[in-house]
Amino acid sequence: MTTYARQPVSFARGEGVWLWDTSGRRYLDALSGIAVCGLGHTHPAVTEAICKQAGTLIHTSNLFTIDVQAQLGEQLCAIANMDAVFFCNSGAEANEAAIKLARLFGHKKGTVEPAVIVMEGSFHGRTLATLTATGNPKLQQGFAPLMPGFIRAPYNDLSALEVIARERNDVVAVLMEPIIGEGGICLPGPQYIAAVRRLCDAQGWLLMLDEIQTGMGRTGRWFCYQHEQVLPDVVTLAKGLGNGFPIGACLARGAAATVFTPGTHGTTFGGNPLACRVSLAVLDAIEQEKLCPRAAELGTYLIAGLEEHLHQLKGVTEIRGKGLMVGIELEHPCGELVRGALAQGLVMNVTAGNVIRLLPPLVIERGEIDMIVNVVAHIVREFLQELKGS
Ligand code: PLP
Repeated sequence: MTTYARQPVSFARGEGVWLWDTSGRRYLDALSGIAVCGLGHTHPAVTEAICKQAGTLIHTSNLFTIDVQAQLGEQLCAIANMDAVFFCNSGAEANEAAIKLARLFGHKKGTVEPAVIVMEGSFHGRTLATLTATGNPKLQQGFAPLMPGFIRAPYNDLSALEVIARERNDVVAVLMEPIIGEGGICLPGPQYIAAVRRLCDAQGWLLMLDEIQTGMGRTGRWFCYQHEQVLPDVVTLAKGLGNGFPIGACLARGAAATVFTPGTHGTTFGGNPLACRVSLAVLDAIEQEKLCPRAAELGTYLIAGLEEHLHQLKGVTEIRGKGLMVGIELEHPCGELVRGALAQGLVMNVTAGNVIRLLPPLVIERGEIDMIVNVVAHIVREFLQELKGS
């Protein structure tokens, strides 16, 4: 079905930060399959994990103990400071689990119709509940009736949440991205998430962070909340967790970790031995190759390079980001730049209409970042020149 307006290029092979199309042309990947392939393409440890586990055991179902799932759960809980995990197969499923968890948490304390606060500009997935949670009316168009039980609030606005706290007694949780990704790489103020944490504590709400795009080292720490010494109650992951092998996870801590009991939630494929073995290899490689500090350092380098070339240009509104999650906001819609970049051998993305989004693999080298900066600077300059002339 035509759910995507696709670019006219098909990739046949990948290695590290490089992709080759079916005609053998090489491209530098500054998108990582939308923040998925943090270790780059065909990382040897990932390939080996897939091959070995596929030759041993792929799937048994969650009716049985899965040792490799338990092992992955323990390791993830240790790095995320969480107590328990539900494994699934995608980001939307991880958020579905979080939303169900919040509702059950609410019902258990006597809230008849529990509500979850969600943010304007957010993206949480395409299933009905996660689409409802998503703060983008364009994506919701045509899918009414949406789900009840969500309250929309402006992002990065603590007082809006305080008003909701005063006016309503049905709220059980806040679900939000620590950096808005699809919505345009929007970073909150430095104290915002900590302040939301304090409000959640005061109100008895769960703080649920969607780290599907920001997690797994992307912003320079394992998880974005670790920049702020804030601990959420629930964290959702997917994307970089399997480096391209589908896996998602909903992690929880404290009271939130014991909300689900046998029969309250489930999945056939989630947490299968193959997906979990791959994810263990991903965790190991991120640790061994020190990719979190590397993402922090190279992200600073990338932003500095972009600022040097683009900062003074009229038509460039802002360059912003954290680690290797970087956005360049232009004054005008610039979706056509994706094709312009492809013509120059660069894979990148434009989101929210006017924000160039760069999400290169965390294994990228400085020289390759220089290439990204040069191509982006070139196509943005040309684009702005053409706009001026038109
Ligand atoms: N949450 C965030 C922050 C995302 O960026 C995405 C995907 O872009 C999702 C959820 C949905 O993940 P998936 O496409 O794996 O369902």
